[in-house]
Amino acid sequence: MTSRLTRAQQVATDHGLDALLITPGADLRYLTGYDAKPLERLTCLVLPTQGDPALVVPALERAAAEASGVDLPIVTFGETDDPFALVAQHLQGAASVAVDDHMWAERVFRLQDALEARLSVASPVIRELRMRKDAAEVEALREAGAAIDRVHARVHEWLRPGRTEREVGADIARAIIDEGHVQVDFVIVGSGPNSASPHHEVSDRVIEAGDPVVVDLGGTTEAGYCSDSTRTYLAGGTPDPAYLEAYTVLEAAQAAQRAHARPGVTAESVDAVGREILVDAGLGDLFIHRTGHGIGLETHEEPYIVAGSDLLLEPGMAFSIEPGFYRDGRHGARIEDIAVCTEDGLEVLNQRPRELVVL
Ligand code: ZN
Ligand code: ZN
Ligand code: ZN
Repeated sequence: MTSRLTRAQQVATDHGLDALLITPGADLRYLTGYDAKPLERLTCLVLPTQGDPALVVPALERAAAEASGVDLPIVTFGETDDPFALVAQHLQGAASVAVDDHMWAERVFRLQDALEARLSVASPVIRELRMRKDAAEVEALREAGAAIDRVHARVHEWLRPGRTEREVGADIARAIIDEGHVQVDFVIVGSGPNSASPHHEVSDRVIEAGDPVVVDLGGTTEAGYCSDSTRTYLAGGTPDPAYLEAYTVLEAAQAAQRAHARPGVTAESVDAVGREILVDAGLGDLFIHRTGHGIGLETHEEPYIVAGSDLLLEPGMAFSIEPGFYRDGRHGARIEDIAVCTEDGLEVLNQRPRELVVL
């Protein structure tokens, strides 16, 4: 059994649980190394806190599960068997069972019928493990960060007035793969007024000279780890002076947050040091989202860098620092880096220039 499974059992015991049930997704990949497809037939890690784990898989998936190198017994079921009864057999007497947060509702209800247990979500246990990255995970995030930096370094090849956001986005998506990812997770090319919508993706809008363009990119590497970095570009021409002034404030806010984040400070304090700078400049109302999110096998995971979180940062915690300002219908900007807490400071994994990049 791997150390991650042993650790999961310990933390689950501390939480008063008798077992964890984990279906395909990042939690399963983290705990077992098996990147299983989420399909209609049940695949489920059964991890009792006392006793041996098992991986329940459809008979036709046994070869795939074995090929992934999982280090635990595989229990298969045939096309007409009831896999939920099989899970229940492994969990006799379990009174309190946690299921992964992304388990399909259909499965949760069928488990509820098959088990005599009270069900809850597994995130309070899983977050304790996944939130602190080990050295191999930090290295994987470093590689992902370098890969997305190489894409940003090439944005000038494609981004120019006269092209649509969609055309630019398609070129960037190809580069995300070429520069070291196996999957494109998202491509945001928000030009002109679209830059004021934080989660705009692409549209058929033709980029104009003088437009600010928010370019937020992310992909997943072979190792399964995600990249996520935003830079704001200026598509030639001259920007609105009010915009330039606000952008300078944003740069200062993001720099202050990078200087502040380290083990021992709260997540909310990282948000606050940047937000205060924007508030003092009269831009507080335009910073309409939290400062950041954790990142690892998923783009958005714990810890969240948000007001109200008194979580103390610890070595190995990886998260985004991405303040922005958004003037509805006019323009917006965001600067986003992924960073990881070291023993006594912060390692920033994205290194592209953070000033407004004039193309
Ligand atoms: Zn986002
Ligand atoms: Zn992003
Ligand atoms: Zn992000």
